Amino acid sequence: MRDSNATVVVSGTVNIDTFVGVDNFPHPGETVIGTRGIEGLGGKGANQAAACAHMGVRTVLLSAVGQDSQGELAITELKRHGVNTEHVAETRQPTGQAFIMNDSSGENIIIVTSGANQLVSPAQQRETVDTLRSQGPVPVVLAQGELTPEHSAELPKLVRGTDTRLVLNLAPVTTRDPDLLAAADPLILNEGEAADVLDVPRSTPREEIFDLLRPIARSVVVTLGAEGAVILSGDATLRVPAVRVPSVVDTTGAGDAFCGTLAAALAQGEDLENACKLGTAAGALATQKKGAAGSYASEVEVRALAEE
Ligand code: ADP
Repeated sequence: MRDSNATVVVSGTVNIDTFVGVDNFPHPGETVIGTRGIEGLGGKGANQAAACAHMGVRTVLLSAVGQDSQGELAITELKRHGVNTEHVAETRQPTGQAFIMNDSSGENIIIVTSGANQLVSPAQQRETVDTLRSQGPVPVVLAQGELTPEHSAELPKLVRGTDTRLVLNLAPVTTRDPDLLAAADPLILNEGEAADVLDVPRSTPREEIFDLLRPIARSVVVTLGAEGAVILSGDATLRVPAVRVPSVVDTTGAGDAFCGTLAAALAQGEDLENACKLGTAAGALATQKKGAAGSYASEVEVRALAEE
């Protein structure tokens, strides 16, 4: 059943992404001339919050930016995507930034400065979730691996003994805290992260990885790019095929679209299988345009494609 009051809390990072194109990457000590692209909203927290809000679910982002022009840009962009920014703190640290350099072969080098993102305290996270819970249902808290391990370690306490479900996209794998993993329902990983969280080589056979993942969380979803996703719940394995797209323009942000949409769908009362189907539709649509949040589709488009 759809609950129009339901709020998804996204605890995560906000960055401003700056793109620079170069013919060839510079070597240490070398200077090259590049072309600067436009700045855009980034950070997994911001991207996933945008995808969640696009599904028409009240989405509150718990994060921090700086008192600078990038912070202003981030807040404006988040609001444009329909994200509630009341709990995005404005701090004295600079806004988190990602500097993304692309060369002519399509390879990239990325440097991230966390800045203000490091300032969200676990206590602040708890206080915000408690306040929101006193105002209405909070069926889902969505978090990513970009939080500090100390911050992530507090997530199980937020959901224990409550009606809130922790959806954890452990990207990147910054912790293997067993209590955190056990609280995730689902734990969402791509194939590389699935191997990393188990600390096994990425060449390990897929089925072996799936069996090792089953006991570590309440449920696990592994995303498989153009092959879709698989749900591991108890002994059951459910395959959710990808939605076929005529051609891929840019896969940046497809994983974030999947996670934000899945969290929104769970908050709307869908079961995990349907939530994954909607996630694969949103992921496929995100490959059709350049960029991350800027490429996300509306709820109507996502649902229409999922039903095809
Ligand atoms: P990540 O970007 O985190 O590595 P994936 O590449 O697994 O994540 O993509 C997330 C989801 O986006 C996939 O499960 C799939 O549903 C969708 N997706 C990604 N690439 C494609 C593609 N080429 N065609 C269709 N769907 C895709």
